[in-house]
Amino acid sequence: MNYRCTRCTSPADSVMSFDYPGRSMWITDIDVLPEPGTGYLLCAAHASRLGAPVGWTLVDKRSPMARLFSVPA
Ligand SMILES: [Zn+2]
Repeated sequence: MNYRCTRCTSPADSVMSFDYPGRSMWITDIDVLPEPGTGYLLCAAHASRLGAPVGWTLVDKRSPMARLFSVPA
């Protein structure tokens, strides 16, 4: 199944999740889909352009190199 970015029609590869009480948001790989109402699917472009609202913390937990390159032994 193909997942699509919430902001555009590009294939999604990241998940933006948020915690309103904690005023924090984070971006993860799409391995784990968000529960409805707790996150959005985003493409790479929109994930990189994502900014946290004033007073919020944004943490990027993605591992961008993992799928493109093998880790040197
Ligand atoms: Zn997008």
